[in-house]
Amino acid sequence: MSQKILIVGAGLYGAVCARELHDAGHRVQVIEQRAQPGGNCATRFVPEADCHEHLHGAHIFHTDSERIWDYVNRFARFNSYVNRVKVRRGDALYSFPINLFTLHQVFGARTPAEARAAVARERVEIAAPANLEEHCLATVGPTLYQLFIEGYTTKQWRRHPRELPAEIIQRIPVRFDFNDNYFNDRFQGIPIGGYSAMFDRLLAGVSVEFGVDFLRDADHWLTRFDHVIYTGPIDAFFWHCHGPLEYRSLRFERELLPMADFQGNAVVNYADADVPYTRIIEHRHFDPPGAARSAAATHTLITREYPADHTPGSEPYYPVGTAANRARFDRYRRLADELGGQVHFGGRLAEYRYYDMHQVIGAALAHVRRHLGRERHGVVTEPGLA
Ligand code: UDP
Repeated sequence: MSQKILIVGAGLYGAVCARELHDAGHRVQVIEQRAQPGGNCATRFVPEADCHEHLHGAHIFHTDSERIWDYVNRFARFNSYVNRVKVRRGDALYSFPINLFTLHQVFGARTPAEARAAVARERVEIAAPANLEEHCLATVGPTLYQLFIEGYTTKQWRRHPRELPAEIIQRIPVRFDFNDNYFNDRFQGIPIGGYSAMFDRLLAGVSVEFGVDFLRDADHWLTRFDHVIYTGPIDAFFWHCHGPLEYRSLRFERELLPMADFQGNAVVNYADADVPYTRIIEHRHFDPPGAARSAAATHTLITREYPADHTPGSEPYYPVGTAANRARFDRYRRLADELGGQVHFGGRLAEYRYYDMHQVIGAALAHVRRHLGRERHGVVTEPGLA
Protein backbone atom coordinates (compact mmCIF):
# COMPACT_ATOMS: atom_id res chain seq x y z
CA MET A 1 0.00 0.00 0.00
CA SER A 2 1.30 3.42 -0.91
CA GLN A 3 2.31 5.46 2.14
CA LYS A 4 2.74 9.19 2.61
CA ILE A 5 6.36 9.68 3.58
CA LEU A 6 8.05 12.91 4.67
CA ILE A 7 11.80 13.28 4.35
CA VAL A 8 13.36 16.14 6.27
CA GLY A 9 16.58 17.17 4.54
CA ALA A 10 17.74 16.76 0.92
CA GLY A 11 21.30 15.72 1.76
CA LEU A 12 22.70 12.34 0.80
CA TYR A 13 20.72 10.29 3.36
CA GLY A 14 17.44 12.02 2.54
CA ALA A 15 17.94 11.96 -1.22
CA VAL A 16 18.78 8.23 -1.35
CA CYS A 17 15.74 7.39 0.82
CA ALA A 18 13.59 9.62 -1.38
CA ARG A 19 14.75 7.93 -4.58
CA GLU A 20 14.19 4.40 -3.25
CA LEU A 21 10.85 5.03 -1.55
CA HIS A 22 9.54 6.96 -4.56
CA ASP A 23 10.58 4.10 -6.85
CA ALA A 24 8.84 1.65 -4.51
CA GLY A 25 5.59 3.49 -5.17
CA HIS A 26 5.26 5.66 -2.06
CA ARG A 27 4.16 9.29 -2.08
CA VAL A 28 7.33 11.05 -0.96
CA GLN A 29 7.62 14.68 0.08
CA VAL A 30 11.07 16.12 0.81
CA ILE A 31 11.49 19.39 2.70
CA GLU A 32 14.80 21.17 2.85
CA GLN A 33 15.87 24.22 4.81
CA ARG A 34 18.44 25.38 2.28
CA ALA A 35 17.72 26.65 -1.25
CA GLN A 36 19.27 23.65 -3.01
CA PRO A 37 19.68 19.89 -2.51
CA GLY A 38 22.88 18.04 -1.73
CA GLY A 39 23.52 19.02 1.88
CA ASN A 40 27.22 19.58 2.38
CA CYS A 41 28.05 17.87 -0.93
CA ALA A 42 26.53 20.76 -2.90
CA THR A 43 28.58 22.23 -5.75
CA ARG A 44 28.26 25.16 -8.14
CA PHE A 45 29.94 25.79 -11.47
CA VAL A 46 32.34 28.75 -11.54
CA PRO A 47 32.94 29.78 -15.18
CA GLU A 48 35.98 32.03 -14.52
CA ALA A 49 37.77 29.03 -13.04
CA ASP A 50 36.06 26.42 -15.25
CA CYS A 51 35.42 24.10 -12.33
CA HIS A 52 32.80 22.99 -9.87
CA GLU A 53 33.19 24.62 -6.47
CA HIS A 54 32.69 22.34 -3.47
CA LEU A 55 30.64 24.79 -1.44
CA HIS A 56 31.04 23.06 1.92
CA GLY A 57 34.53 21.62 1.70
CA ALA A 58 36.11 18.92 -0.44
CA HIS A 59 33.95 15.87 -1.05
CA ILE A 60 35.81 12.97 -2.58
CA PHE A 61 33.69 9.91 -3.09
CA HIS A 62 35.30 6.60 -2.20
CA THR A 63 34.01 3.16 -1.37
CA ASP A 64 35.17 -0.42 -1.29
CA SER A 65 31.68 -1.70 -2.00
CA GLU A 66 30.89 -2.54 -5.60
CA ARG A 67 27.19 -2.34 -4.74
CA ILE A 68 27.47 1.26 -3.49
CA TRP A 69 29.74 2.22 -6.41
CA ASP A 70 27.22 0.79 -8.91
CA TYR A 71 24.47 2.64 -7.08
CA VAL A 72 26.06 6.12 -7.32
CA ASN A 73 27.05 5.47 -10.92
CA ARG A 74 23.35 5.31 -11.76
CA PHE A 75 23.15 9.04 -11.01
CA ALA A 76 26.52 10.39 -12.17
CA ARG A 77 29.60 9.51 -14.17
CA PHE A 78 32.62 9.74 -11.94
CA ASN A 79 36.01 11.07 -12.97
CA SER A 80 39.23 9.28 -12.08
CA TYR A 81 40.34 11.71 -9.34
CA VAL A 82 42.53 10.12 -6.68
CA ASN A 83 43.14 12.11 -3.50
CA ARG A 84 46.88 12.63 -2.98
CA VAL A 85 47.35 15.19 -0.26
CA LYS A 86 50.40 17.32 0.52
CA VAL A 87 51.13 18.70 3.97
CA ARG A 88 52.78 22.03 4.58
CA ARG A 89 54.74 22.38 7.82
CA GLY A 90 56.68 25.63 8.12
CA ASP A 91 58.38 26.09 4.75
CA ALA A 92 58.52 22.36 4.03
CA LEU A 93 56.09 20.24 2.01
CA TYR A 94 55.51 16.55 2.66
CA SER A 95 53.71 13.70 0.97
CA PHE A 96 50.63 12.55 2.92
CA PRO A 97 49.18 10.22 4.17
CA ILE A 98 52.40 8.89 5.66
CA ASN A 99 54.04 6.67 3.02
CA LEU A 100 57.54 5.70 1.96
CA PHE A 101 58.14 9.09 0.36
CA THR A 102 57.12 10.87 3.61
CA LEU A 103 59.43 8.56 5.55
CA HIS A 104 62.19 9.38 3.08
CA GLN A 105 61.60 13.10 3.61
CA VAL A 106 61.54 12.77 7.41
CA PHE A 107 63.97 9.93 8.19
CA GLY A 108 65.87 9.42 4.92
CA ALA A 109 64.38 5.94 4.40
CA ARG A 110 64.75 4.68 0.82
CA THR A 111 63.15 1.25 0.92
CA PRO A 112 60.14 -0.32 2.66
CA ALA A 113 62.53 -2.16 5.01
CA GLU A 114 64.32 1.06 5.95
CA ALA A 115 60.99 2.80 6.44
CA ARG A 116 59.69 0.04 8.72
CA ALA A 117 62.91 0.10 10.72
CA ALA A 118 62.74 3.90 11.11
CA VAL A 119 59.16 3.78 12.38
CA ALA A 120 59.94 0.80 14.64
CA ARG A 121 62.69 2.87 16.29
CA GLU A 122 60.22 5.69 16.86
CA ARG A 123 57.26 3.78 18.24
CA VAL A 124 56.46 4.15 21.91
CA GLU A 125 55.30 1.05 23.72
CA ILE A 126 51.81 1.69 25.05
CA ALA A 127 49.91 -1.44 26.02
CA ALA A 128 46.39 -0.14 25.45
CA PRO A 129 46.35 3.29 23.73
CA ALA A 130 43.50 5.22 25.33
CA ASN A 131 43.25 8.30 23.11
CA LEU A 132 44.30 9.79 19.77
CA GLU A 133 47.73 10.89 21.00
CA GLU A 134 48.59 7.52 22.53
CA HIS A 135 47.38 5.77 19.40
CA CYS A 136 49.72 7.90 17.24
CA LEU A 137 52.69 7.48 19.59
CA ALA A 138 52.15 3.72 19.59
CA THR A 139 51.80 3.43 15.80
CA VAL A 140 54.19 6.05 14.35
CA GLY A 141 56.00 7.65 17.31
CA PRO A 142 56.52 11.26 18.41
CA THR A 143 58.34 12.76 15.38
CA LEU A 144 55.58 12.03 12.85
CA TYR A 145 52.88 12.72 15.43
CA GLN A 146 54.28 16.16 16.20
CA LEU A 147 54.91 16.98 12.54
CA PHE A 148 51.58 16.01 11.06
CA ILE A 149 48.99 15.31 13.70
CA GLU A 150 49.25 17.24 16.93
CA GLY A 151 48.90 20.80 15.57
CA TYR A 152 46.36 19.96 12.86
CA THR A 153 44.16 17.93 15.20
CA THR A 154 44.25 20.52 17.99
CA LYS A 155 43.15 23.19 15.51
CA GLN A 156 40.48 21.05 13.92
CA TRP A 157 38.83 19.85 17.12
CA ARG A 158 39.95 22.63 19.53
CA ARG A 159 40.92 19.88 21.93
CA HIS A 160 44.25 18.25 22.55
CA PRO A 161 44.58 14.80 20.92
CA ARG A 162 44.84 13.36 24.45
CA GLU A 163 41.17 14.28 24.88
CA LEU A 164 40.01 12.76 21.60
CA PRO A 165 39.17 9.19 20.55
CA ALA A 166 41.62 7.38 18.26
CA GLU A 167 38.86 6.55 15.73
CA ILE A 168 39.18 10.08 14.30
CA ILE A 169 42.61 9.28 12.90
CA GLN A 170 42.25 5.56 12.23
CA ARG A 171 40.59 6.39 8.89
CA ILE A 172 43.99 7.61 7.58
CA PRO A 173 46.43 4.90 6.42
CA VAL A 174 50.16 4.63 7.18
CA ARG A 175 52.07 2.87 4.38
CA PHE A 176 55.59 1.63 3.78
CA ASP A 177 55.43 1.83 -0.02
CA PHE A 178 55.04 4.84 -2.32
CA ASN A 179 51.26 4.61 -2.46
CA ASP A 180 50.08 8.10 -1.48
CA ASN A 181 46.36 7.58 -2.10
CA TYR A 182 44.46 9.05 0.87
CA PHE A 183 42.01 6.15 0.76
CA ASN A 184 42.36 2.37 0.65
CA ASP A 185 39.11 1.79 -1.20
CA ARG A 186 38.93 0.26 -4.68
CA PHE A 187 36.59 2.92 -6.08
CA GLN A 188 37.14 6.67 -5.96
CA GLY A 189 36.19 9.77 -7.93
CA ILE A 190 34.13 12.92 -8.19
CA PRO A 191 30.91 13.27 -10.22
CA ILE A 192 31.58 14.83 -13.62
CA GLY A 193 29.33 17.89 -13.72
CA GLY A 194 29.38 18.27 -9.94
CA TYR A 195 27.52 16.76 -7.01
CA SER A 196 24.53 19.06 -7.44
CA ALA A 197 23.78 17.54 -10.87
CA MET A 198 23.96 14.10 -9.22
CA PHE A 199 21.40 15.21 -6.63
CA ASP A 200 19.10 16.55 -9.35
CA ARG A 201 19.11 13.05 -10.85
CA LEU A 202 18.68 11.36 -7.44
CA LEU A 203 15.64 13.50 -6.76
CA ALA A 204 14.14 13.46 -10.28
CA GLY A 205 10.36 13.13 -10.07
CA VAL A 206 10.29 13.58 -6.27
CA SER A 207 8.45 16.53 -4.77
CA VAL A 208 10.99 18.76 -2.96
CA GLU A 209 10.21 22.04 -1.17
CA PHE A 210 13.11 24.34 -0.37
CA GLY A 211 13.42 26.96 2.35
CA VAL A 212 11.26 24.96 4.80
CA ASP A 213 12.26 24.70 8.45
CA PHE A 214 10.69 21.48 9.74
CA LEU A 215 11.24 22.33 13.42
CA ARG A 216 9.27 25.57 13.17
CA ASP A 217 6.16 23.51 12.58
CA ALA A 218 7.04 19.95 13.54
CA ASP A 219 3.57 19.01 14.82
CA HIS A 220 2.00 20.08 11.55
CA TRP A 221 4.33 17.82 9.58
CA LEU A 222 4.29 14.86 11.96
CA THR A 223 0.52 14.47 11.88
CA ARG A 224 0.28 14.44 8.11
CA PHE A 225 2.54 11.54 7.16
CA ASP A 226 2.64 7.77 7.77
CA HIS A 227 6.41 7.76 8.11
CA VAL A 228 8.96 10.54 8.67
CA ILE A 229 12.69 10.36 7.94
CA TYR A 230 14.48 13.10 9.84
CA THR A 231 18.09 13.88 8.89
CA GLY A 232 18.72 17.04 10.96
CA PRO A 233 20.53 17.21 14.30
CA ILE A 234 18.86 14.83 16.77
CA ASP A 235 19.30 17.23 19.73
CA ALA A 236 17.43 19.99 17.88
CA PHE A 237 14.52 17.60 17.18
CA PHE A 238 14.06 17.20 20.94
CA TRP A 239 14.57 20.92 21.65
CA HIS A 240 17.94 20.20 23.28
CA CYS A 241 16.12 18.85 26.34
CA HIS A 242 19.23 16.90 27.42
CA GLY A 243 21.52 19.79 26.52
CA PRO A 244 23.21 20.53 23.19
CA LEU A 245 25.35 17.91 21.47
CA GLU A 246 28.76 19.23 20.53
CA TYR A 247 29.68 19.73 16.89
CA ARG A 248 32.60 21.37 15.14
CA SER A 249 31.84 23.90 12.49
CA LEU A 250 33.86 25.29 9.59
CA ARG A 251 34.29 28.66 7.97
CA PHE A 252 35.25 28.80 4.30
CA GLU A 253 37.13 31.67 2.76
CA ARG A 254 37.05 31.53 -1.02
CA GLU A 255 39.34 33.43 -3.31
CA LEU A 256 39.37 33.69 -7.11
CA LEU A 257 42.95 34.26 -8.15
CA PRO A 258 44.00 35.58 -11.57
CA MET A 259 46.38 32.72 -12.34
CA ALA A 260 46.20 29.24 -13.80
CA ASP A 261 47.49 27.28 -10.84
CA PHE A 262 47.95 28.30 -7.21
CA GLN A 263 49.26 25.21 -5.43
CA GLY A 264 49.54 22.46 -8.03
CA ASN A 265 47.29 20.06 -6.10
CA ALA A 266 43.65 19.80 -5.00
CA VAL A 267 44.40 19.56 -1.26
CA VAL A 268 47.26 20.98 0.79
CA ASN A 269 46.96 20.54 4.58
CA TYR A 270 48.51 23.06 6.96
CA ALA A 271 49.74 21.21 10.02
CA ASP A 272 51.26 24.15 11.93
CA ALA A 273 49.27 25.03 15.04
CA ASP A 274 49.70 28.76 14.41
CA VAL A 275 48.29 28.77 10.86
CA PRO A 276 44.57 29.31 11.48
CA TYR A 277 43.27 27.18 8.59
CA THR A 278 43.65 23.41 8.25
CA ARG A 279 43.74 23.16 4.47
CA ILE A 280 43.51 24.95 1.18
CA ILE A 281 41.66 23.28 -1.62
CA GLU A 282 42.08 24.31 -5.24
CA HIS A 283 38.94 23.23 -7.00
CA ARG A 284 40.23 22.92 -10.58
CA HIS A 285 42.47 20.06 -9.48
CA PHE A 286 39.45 17.90 -8.68
CA ASP A 287 39.31 17.45 -12.45
CA PRO A 288 41.84 14.89 -13.63
CA PRO A 289 45.22 16.23 -14.81
CA GLY A 290 45.20 17.13 -18.48
CA ALA A 291 41.44 17.76 -18.58
CA ALA A 292 40.66 20.34 -21.28
CA ARG A 293 40.27 23.87 -19.83
CA SER A 294 37.91 26.41 -21.31
CA ALA A 295 39.42 29.59 -22.78
CA ALA A 296 37.10 31.49 -20.39
CA ALA A 297 39.07 30.14 -17.41
CA THR A 298 41.05 33.21 -16.46
CA HIS A 299 41.24 32.36 -12.75
CA THR A 300 41.74 29.56 -10.29
CA LEU A 301 39.48 29.14 -7.27
CA ILE A 302 40.84 28.27 -3.84
CA THR A 303 39.12 27.82 -0.49
CA ARG A 304 40.78 28.08 2.90
CA GLU A 305 39.10 25.94 5.53
CA TYR A 306 39.02 27.35 9.07
CA PRO A 307 37.83 25.16 11.93
CA ALA A 308 35.23 26.95 14.05
CA ASP A 309 33.17 26.44 17.17
CA HIS A 310 29.60 25.50 16.50
CA THR A 311 27.33 28.24 17.73
CA PRO A 312 23.59 28.74 17.16
CA GLY A 313 23.20 29.65 13.51
CA SER A 314 26.46 28.08 12.29
CA GLU A 315 26.50 24.79 10.39
CA PRO A 316 27.19 21.64 12.43
CA TYR A 317 29.78 19.73 10.37
CA TYR A 318 31.48 17.21 12.63
CA PRO A 319 30.06 15.36 15.65
CA VAL A 320 32.67 15.40 18.43
CA GLY A 321 32.87 11.76 19.51
CA THR A 322 34.02 12.12 23.13
CA ALA A 323 32.58 9.79 25.78
CA ALA A 324 30.48 12.61 27.29
CA ASN A 325 28.95 13.50 23.90
CA ARG A 326 28.25 9.87 23.09
CA ALA A 327 26.51 9.43 26.47
CA ARG A 328 24.36 12.49 25.75
CA PHE A 329 23.58 11.17 22.28
CA ASP A 330 22.46 7.85 23.83
CA ARG A 331 19.88 9.74 25.88
CA TYR A 332 18.50 11.35 22.72
CA ARG A 333 18.58 7.99 20.98
CA ARG A 334 16.38 6.54 23.73
CA LEU A 335 13.88 9.39 23.24
CA ALA A 336 13.91 8.63 19.51
CA ASP A 337 13.17 4.95 20.21
CA GLU A 338 10.20 5.96 22.34
CA LEU A 339 8.64 7.57 19.26
CA GLY A 340 8.40 4.14 17.68
CA GLY A 341 8.94 3.62 13.99
CA GLN A 342 6.94 6.62 12.84
CA VAL A 343 10.03 8.83 12.91
CA HIS A 344 13.35 7.45 11.73
CA PHE A 345 16.58 9.32 12.47
CA GLY A 346 19.27 8.90 9.81
CA GLY A 347 22.48 10.49 8.54
CA ARG A 348 25.50 12.25 10.04
CA LEU A 349 23.53 14.73 12.17
CA ALA A 350 20.64 12.53 13.27
CA GLU A 351 22.87 9.56 14.12
CA TYR A 352 25.67 11.78 15.46
CA ARG A 353 28.27 9.82 13.50
CA TYR A 354 31.39 10.86 11.59
CA TYR A 355 30.03 9.18 8.45
CA ASP A 356 31.67 9.24 5.01
CA MET A 357 29.41 9.56 1.97
CA HIS A 358 29.50 5.86 1.07
CA GLN A 359 28.54 4.94 4.63
CA VAL A 360 25.60 7.34 4.50
CA ILE A 361 24.37 5.70 1.29
CA GLY A 362 24.77 2.22 2.79
CA ALA A 363 22.82 3.24 5.89
CA ALA A 364 20.05 4.88 3.85
CA LEU A 365 19.65 1.84 1.60
CA ALA A 366 19.55 -0.42 4.69
CA HIS A 367 16.82 1.70 6.26
CA VAL A 368 14.71 1.61 3.12
CA ARG A 369 15.16 -2.17 2.86
CA ARG A 370 14.02 -2.61 6.45
CA HIS A 371 11.14 -0.23 6.00
CA LEU A 372 9.89 -1.91 2.85
CA GLY A 373 10.31 -5.34 4.44
CA ARG A 374 8.17 -4.32 7.39
CA GLU A 375 5.63 -2.71 5.13
CA ARG A 376 5.26 -5.92 3.12
CA HIS A 377 4.53 -7.77 6.36
CA GLY A 378 1.89 -5.21 7.27
CA VAL A 379 3.69 -3.57 10.22
CA VAL A 380 5.26 -0.18 9.68
CA THR A 381 5.29 1.46 13.08
CA GLU A 382 7.19 -0.93 15.30
CA PRO A 383 9.69 0.64 17.73
CA GLY A 384 13.40 0.73 17.10
CA LEU A 385 13.16 1.27 13.39
CA ALA A 386 16.73 2.56 13.26
N1 UDP B 1 44.61 14.78 10.53
C1 UDP B 1 45.80 15.32 10.93
N2 UDP B 1 46.66 15.86 9.99
C2 UDP B 1 46.36 15.89 8.68
C3 UDP B 1 45.15 15.35 8.27
C4 UDP B 1 44.29 14.80 9.20
O1 UDP B 1 46.11 15.33 12.13
O2 UDP B 1 47.17 16.40 7.88
C5 UDP B 1 43.72 14.20 11.55
C6 UDP B 1 42.75 15.24 12.12
O3 UDP B 1 42.51 14.93 13.48
C7 UDP B 1 41.51 15.02 11.29
C8 UDP B 1 41.51 13.51 11.12
O4 UDP B 1 42.90 13.18 10.98
O5 UDP B 1 40.36 15.50 11.94
C9 UDP B 1 40.71 13.00 9.95
O6 UDP B 1 41.20 13.60 8.77
P1 UDP B 1 40.35 13.63 7.42
O7 UDP B 1 41.18 14.25 6.37
O8 UDP B 1 39.83 12.25 7.15
O9 UDP B 1 39.16 14.59 7.84
P2 UDP B 1 37.92 15.17 7.04
O10 UDP B 1 38.27 15.16 5.59
O11 UDP B 1 36.75 14.33 7.40
O12 UDP B 1 37.81 16.55 7.60
